[in-house]
Amino acid sequence: MNYRHAYHAGNFADVLKHIILARVIEHLKLKPQPFRVIDTHAGIGRYDLSGVEAGKTGEWRDGIGRVLQAAVPDQVAALLEPYLATVRDMNGGDLQVYPGSPLIARTLMRPGDQLVANELHAEDFTELKALFHKARDCKVLNLDAWVAVKSLLPPKERRGLVLIDPPFERNDEFEAIAEGLEEAFRRFATGIYVVWYPLKSELAADRFVAKVRANGGVKGLDVRFQIAQSGPEAGLTSTGILVINPPYKLNDELAVLLPFLRATLARDASAAFTIKSWEDGKAPA
Ligand code: SAM
Repeated sequence: MNYRHAYHAGNFADVLKHIILARVIEHLKLKPQPFRVIDTHAGIGRYDLSGVEAGKTGEWRDGIGRVLQAAVPDQVAALLEPYLATVRDMNGGDLQVYPGSPLIARTLMRPGDQLVANELHAEDFTELKALFHKARDCKVLNLDAWVAVKSLLPPKERRGLVLIDPPFERNDEFEAIAEGLEEAFRRFATGIYVVWYPLKSELAADRFVAKVRANGGVKGLDVRFQIAQSGPEAGLTSTGILVINPPYKLNDELAVLLPFLRATLARDASAAFTIKSWEDGKAPA
């Protein structure tokens, strides 16, 4: 396990993932019944942008750094607000720290909602546990993600979101996710699943999405987002997010947000996005 998220926190891929995470949580809050967020690959929850790791890559400057400096149209601002509030919440005037997915979830949850944050890396788990040690609505686990999924589903609230955000260090990560999701759908078919993936090959991503659909992901939304041409020195330039059982209206919201994100985060003229949604058994949207 070599991957450390501190090098990448707040980059363009984090920004897209965290905006979608915040939008899904805002939709869950529209009903009074409590919900549970299960974060299977939680990281440390809070990232120091002046630390050695963030300083080495500077990736956050082309992610959250750009978003905070952008002129934001009103319609976009309303949709971004919950996410940006979580960033503001932990910073004074200047951007110094960036919230990871479990902290974004915890900040947006209501009293009565629950968070389970799981992290396998021993040191990262220790930091995450320290971050939430006073939070009674947050359980921190140190399990393999797929062991956690099996033991935690279905949640007792029968409402909620599972965020799956692996480091993609394994060559078979797509297969592992598709198989893990098949099991998850059997246990909690109505859950919302948000899966992050690096977009290195459209073909591999297409195969992955097709497999998740075949394994029970009958209603979904797949977002792909590119900020620059790929190349040997370019690092990660394209990312995808797959949402199974997306909240009603998420598609429309992304159609508002993504043109803004493309304009704000583009590093060259190839910047682009696609949003594809389906409900199997119905005509494609
Ligand atoms: N979700 C976090 C966020 O958005 O702030 C970032 C997570 S980072 C991309 C992936 C994390 O998964 C790393 O912290 C890594 O240590 C952890 N990890 C790697 N393999 C794991 C496994 N099998 N089960 C659980 N966590 C794992």
